[in-house]
Parts: sequence; structure tokens; C-alpha cells
Amino acid sequence: YVDVVGVTKSFGANQVLKGVDLQVQAGECVVLLGASGSGKTTLLRSVAALETPDAGSIRVVSHQLDFGSAGKRTHGEKELRAFRSDTGMVFQQYNLFPHLTVLENMTVAPRHVHGTGKAEAEAAAVKLLARVGLADKAGSYPLQLSGGQQQRVAIARALALNPRVMLFDEVTSALDPQLVEEVENVIQQLACDGMTMLLVTHELSFARAVADRIVFMSNGIVLETGTPAQILDNPAHEETRRFVKRAQ
Ligand code: ATP
Repeated sequence: YVDVVGVTKSFGANQVLKGVDLQVQAGECVVLLGASGSGKTTLLRSVAALETPDAGSIRVVSHQLDFGSAGKRTHGEKELRAFRSDTGMVFQQYNLFPHLTVLENMTVAPRHVHGTGKAEAEAAAVKLLARVGLADKAGSYPLQLSGGQQQRVAIARALALNPRVMLFDEVTSALDPQLVEEVENVIQQLACDGMTMLLVTHELSFARAVADRIVFMSNGIVLETGTPAQILDNPAHEETRRFVKRAQ
């Protein structure tokens, strides 16, 4: 479903991804763990086609991008757009448009990117708002909402484009502690509904609760992968053990 093969990426002399292989099955929730700087965000951004790897290939559902000398740049703008339409990404900063209402935030891309009609886009948005528990906030402006509510709108906004895979990058890191749970609950519900997801979090208890599988990254490679119990309770590598101990 998601298939990352041999992906490398450098920023100048700094090789951040050193040959990453990663698969996510349909309906699976995979959590990426690893120390700061291990390459988690760069990997997620690569899967969203927001970064261009130096080598390797990334397939999301039926679209594949090949990078580097073997594949050269075989994909044009049209292929890139098709590839991107399969993923929805939510960031630490929710980046809602402050001058647009919640409903307008959610319908602007479906209407202008997908050409969906106004009534249809709004009806879909209203349903998604109910799904994230914000049915009564359609007419509010982002700054009238709490951080947790804004992040839930950001999730609903990403879902409005009907992605096949959702990518979450530390989406609760900027939130006050008491707002973290409401966002985690929305993500957990999505996982229960069978959404395919790849997410980065520093909250180990959340990782344990939501992940079908945990992938532990170290210094630009996948060091080990396993069930939450394997990785969090009985890791194969000393480095994973130290990370888990420090993070708990
Ligand atoms: P964190 O948990 O701190 O977010 P991470 O595992 O997500 O870390 P990345 O954000 O992927 O790690 O960053 C890995 C390395 O790549 C870091 O050393 C970072 O400074 C570097 N890096 C990331 N993006 C860029 C960029 N656009 N230009 C230059 N260096 C970058």
C-alpha cells in the first residue's frame, strides 16, 4: 500500500536518510519513533512528496515515484499531483487560514483543487466536522478555537481531500497537555475506522495504544520494527531500549 525502498536524502553534506525501507499495509497504523534528528520528518515529508529524495522509490497505493540516477526524474507535474492526492498530511503547526471560517478552510481545496461543487464540498465538510466532534464550529474562525480544536479542524481538512493514507507529524507537540487527548482520540478513531496511517509521535503511551506496528529509526535508517509490545517492552537493540527508557 505504502512501499518505501532504498530512500536516501542529503541536505548538503548531511545525509539524513541512508537507505530507508518501509512498508505500510492497507488499514495499518505505523508509528515512527526515534531520536530527534533521526530523519522521521524527512521520511514523512518524502512520502507526502514534499521532499525529493536523492535515490530510491516511493509507492503510495497505485502511484510510484522513482528517484536518483537509476530512475532519473521520470515524473512530471501531473504524476506528482496524482501521487500527492493519495496522501493527506497534518503538521505540528495546524496552518489554518485565519481569515476563513472553519467550513471555508475545509472546502477551499476540494473546490479549487478537485473542482467539487460548493454544496457538495460543504456537505462533506459538515460530516467530517461531526466526525472530529466539531459539528457546531463550522462558522467559527480558527482563532476562536482552542489549539486542540484547530488541530482537529486541520485533520478534518486533510480528510476532506479523501486521501488513501494519512500522515501525522507530531501533531500534538504544540498543544497544551490537557488538549492532547482530544486530538489523539480523533486519530485513534480514524485508526479504528481502518484508515491507513503513518505517524510520528513522542508520546509512547499513544504509540502503544494506536500502533499496529512501530518502526524505530536511528540516524537515517530503520533500526528495528515490531509490534508495540516488542519495541516498547522488549526491543532488540540497546539504542531502542535507551530511547524507550528516556522517553517514558
Ligand atoms: P525531530 O524529532 O527533532 O523532528 P526528526 O527525526 O524528525 O527529528 P528530521 O526533521 O527529519 O528529523 O531532520 C533530520 C536532520 O535533517 C536534522 O539534522 C535536520 O537539521 C536536517 N534537516 C531537515 N530538513 C532540512 C532542510 N530543509 N535543510 C537542511 N537540513 C535539514
